[in-house]
Amino acid sequence: MIHPGDSSIQNAMGKQYRLILFDADGTLFDYEKAEDTALEAALTDKAYRREEHRDIYRVINQELWELFEKGEIQASELRVERFRRFLRVTGIPGDPVSISRQYLKYLAEGAYLYQGVEILLQELKRRYKIGLVTNGLKEVQRSRFAKTPIPQYMSCIIVSDEVGVQKPDPSIFLMALKEAGETDPKATLVVGDSLTSDIQGGWNAGMDTCWFNQEGKKNTSSIVPTYEIRELKELLDYL
Ligand SMILES: [Mg+2]
Repeated sequence: MIHPGDSSIQNAMGKQYRLILFDADGTLFDYEKAEDTALEAALTDKAYRREEHRDIYRVINQELWELFEKGEIQASELRVERFRRFLRVTGIPGDPVSISRQYLKYLAEGAYLYQGVEILLQELKRRYKIGLVTNGLKEVQRSRFAKTPIPQYMSCIIVSDEVGVQKPDPSIFLMALKEAGETDPKATLVVGDSLTSDIQGGWNAGMDTCWFNQEGKKNTSSIVPTYEIRELKELLDYL
């Protein structure tokens, strides 16, 4: 139910939030589109075949981000290593260092918000503080955010690469809480598309969580979100 202008109201579960912390990629931003565009631009003269090669890149990138989330690889290594592996697997010739540099340059230009995001933030902004917590590279994320109206809605923007910890470490969420001028994790709702980083991380920080499950995936993990939505606007049903 929507209660315009009434911030003291509790939702159907008796919860009362003051801060909503969003994940960026896959939640507010269409990262796949940004990634596709940047891959194509960086590999354009290198026999890159989108349909075939994109999926290979994604699998490799995902594996490395999982290692990064576990603290087993540094961001600087991840940037180049994903292309080293990609070139090896696809047989595409090239220098992973220069391709990585090209890719990041194009990626930093790719800022595509999902439809309806700004309207949702406008609505939420009337009643809540809003923040952004993202696992990513600072030069890429800051540049992308700045190309959109997103920063104007945010009481805090935390980029893992800048603060040296990443989701699901609870400290990144607690930093966001502090920067937004709040103190109570229980009055915070974390919204994101990743069970392992957003939902697990929010839980670790003592916050409620909302899993943005756009594709209707089956939750086979032991991680239990407080809420689950298929469309972002469904969030208003719980707030
Ligand atoms: Mg995400």
